[in-house]
Amino acid sequence: MSIYIDPAVAASLRGFEMPEKLGFGTVMAPVMFRAVCQDGCWSQGELVPYAPLALDPAAKVLHYAQSCFEGMKAYRTQAGGVSLFRPERNAARMAHSAARLCMPPVPEALFMDGVRTVTAYCANLVPATSGESLYLRPFLFGTQADLSVSASTSYEFYVIASPSEAYHAGNMRLWVEREDSRAALGGTGDAKVGGNYAASLRSVARLKERGYDQSLWLNPGNRNTVDELSGMNFFAVINGELHTPALSGSILEGVTRDSLIDLARDMGYTVHERAIDIDELLGQVAEGSCDEAFACGTAAIVSPISLFGDGGREYPLAKAPGPVAERLRQMLLDIQEGRAEDKFGWMHPV
Ligand code: PMP
Repeated sequence: MSIYIDPAVAASLRGFEMPEKLGFGTVMAPVMFRAVCQDGCWSQGELVPYAPLALDPAAKVLHYAQSCFEGMKAYRTQAGGVSLFRPERNAARMAHSAARLCMPPVPEALFMDGVRTVTAYCANLVPATSGESLYLRPFLFGTQADLSVSASTSYEFYVIASPSEAYHAGNMRLWVEREDSRAALGGTGDAKVGGNYAASLRSVARLKERGYDQSLWLNPGNRNTVDELSGMNFFAVINGELHTPALSGSILEGVTRDSLIDLARDMGYTVHERAIDIDELLGQVAEGSCDEAFACGTAAIVSPISLFGDGGREYPLAKAPGPVAERLRQMLLDIQEGRAEDKFGWMHPV
């Protein structure tokens, strides 16, 4: 389907001044993509100036949280072009998240139109420094004005964009979260829905008071095995081999996680996807067989973990940042920024 370009888009782009300091997700590009869905029928996509949304106060999303989103990046490549990283994975994950909340999936072609159009019009806003990128945020929500608890009959889909620095997670101190859960078994942990993030905030507020950076969430069923962080997947290096929690139903299937598994195997590492018992892991950190751990995600790329705090004890990692995390981070960035051969066919030039 053709895309409508609002004539005001050109003036919005001309009037935009890129600030010197970008931060992460704070500077918004001056245009956005939008499409609406009524009773299962999608409208034509449109590129319009970035502006506040008009929403009925009774819109379902505001009361019953029918909404999901994606996070992905467009990279400036060595050759000067702009490329998206595995966008079809984000399209598929968004369809999965939408289905979990009884929302109509955004058709893959419309999703691609959205991210490609925003990226193409914002090509001058994709930063050129390594690690910086144009962060893209597609999102979908139910708009029907009706307070009954049922799926909305109308939806809006947007793609907004934010020229961003790398998200600097630093050497993270993780708190093993044994009280709260961010997701229930049979719930929405493997969907990218706002409620999961809202449910993670209290833990983060508490652990910051104790001097930690991020919660390490345990499986909500057994409360004993590692799931993930609030916005990143988890890896440990034990006796030189990589271990990451197997997808349990309450873990988000990260595109970075999946890519690192392929990359690490290609680089000769053994990678295990398995249930990781937290007490066993802490024992291995204490005795030194686990000397490195890191988290990964689109925003933070690969971020080293410096220690785990659990109850009254701390378990520092011997290597933070460790050499495995450093090698993987560099190799992933080299592919994303066009310095290394894209042997897996992950990059989509725009
Ligand atoms: N887990 C959660 C809960 C997340 O929000 C994210 C970020 N999308 C990830 C893992 C990492 O996923 P990805 O590599 O696709 O960004």
